[in-house]
Amino acid sequence: MTYFDDFDIKPEIKKAIREMGFEEPSPIQEKAIPAILKGDDVIGQAQTGTGKTAAFGIPLINRITNDNHVQAVILTPTRELAIQVSGELQKLSRHVNVRTLPIYGGQSIGHQIKALKQGVQIVIGTPGRLQDHLRRKTLRLDRVNTVVLDEADEMLDMGFVDDIEAILKQVNVDRQTLLFSATMPQAIRKLSKRYMVKPVTVSINKSEVTAPSIDQAYYKVLEKNKQESLCRILDSQNPDLGIIFCRTKKGVAELTEALQARGYLVDGLHGDLTQPQRDAVMKKFREGTIEFLVATDVAARGIDVQNISHVINFDIPQDPESYVHRIGRTGRAGRTGQAITLVTPREMKHLRSIEAEIKMSIPSKTVPSIEEVV
Ligand code: ADP
Ligand code: MG
Repeated sequence: MTYFDDFDIKPEIKKAIREMGFEEPSPIQEKAIPAILKGDDVIGQAQTGTGKTAAFGIPLINRITNDNHVQAVILTPTRELAIQVSGELQKLSRHVNVRTLPIYGGQSIGHQIKALKQGVQIVIGTPGRLQDHLRRKTLRLDRVNTVVLDEADEMLDMGFVDDIEAILKQVNVDRQTLLFSATMPQAIRKLSKRYMVKPVTVSINKSEVTAPSIDQAYYKVLEKNKQESLCRILDSQNPDLGIIFCRTKKGVAELTEALQARGYLVDGLHGDLTQPQRDAVMKKFREGTIEFLVATDVAARGIDVQNISHVINFDIPQDPESYVHRIGRTGRAGRTGQAITLVTPREMKHLRSIEAEIKMSIPSKTVPSIEEVV
């Protein structure tokens, strides 16, 4: 058993950790923090919601000096994540003097240039926008000594590989490189071979993480009854806060409209929304003004909203890794969550490959009859 007090980090950071309510390190933190403190390049693999941000954030903040230049850069797949990571680092560095800045597309570049000029020590951003600043020479990375690739699998899925490589090439080779990811596809191993030096891998076994805190079940439904079945399940379970996943943007729009018409408090999140529209939806969801967020995988990437009680796969994901990502939105930090999947007869093969991946069988439940719901 390790405690935060056992780590060789500044007392001010320990104080901030206590104030954040973290009682003990999560398994990935327990393994990754000492390795990072030693100065090794580290690859950290653990499911969504296992505390990877603090796993790199704590040793990173411990290393920042008073010098007024960019000392660390963190690459994240989305703007939402850049903001979230920046928020978590700000909390961790509450009692030390560290300036962090999230940088992402969709926000005025002039504003970002001004903020950078004022002196920033940790920059957190999406690869595209960071490249923008590097080209304009409004950001210099020559004195960076730590680079973090956060949610690396998602960054690669979003097509950022060239931007990531271009950024890594601009940073001093003596740097420490940290890579965090929920999954380890081949492309990530390749990236780590090219840009990391003798990396130490720390990983948390999937079954250690998903099984205890997430209750999983699937319902066999007919394609033509899907919406009705969903509503009955929602009415019988009465979720506090849930994300409903659809396969396509069109599916998100249709289901959002259908649920709104039936009087549910829902909103949709998909790639066609403008940034202010996305922010507005996320705000409503965080505040609990809406009970359900209907979203595609891409739109839901990396979102860490507390207290999501239910993840519902209206459309079953076609690949098992995306199932693991989706259900990781609930049961965060040890709380229990429900993961529900609707499966049509044609889709049973996807269910079986998911079960093979997570090495457990998902129990089946029957859609409640109308009498059971009312
Ligand atoms: P990941 O990046 O692995 O998906 P996050 O870093 O977003 O996970 O953490 C998920 C949630 O768990 C966050 O709300 C975070 O504040 C919280 N958390 C992280 N570490 C701990 C800890 N040791 N104890 C309690 N909560 C924690
Ligand atoms: Mg994360």
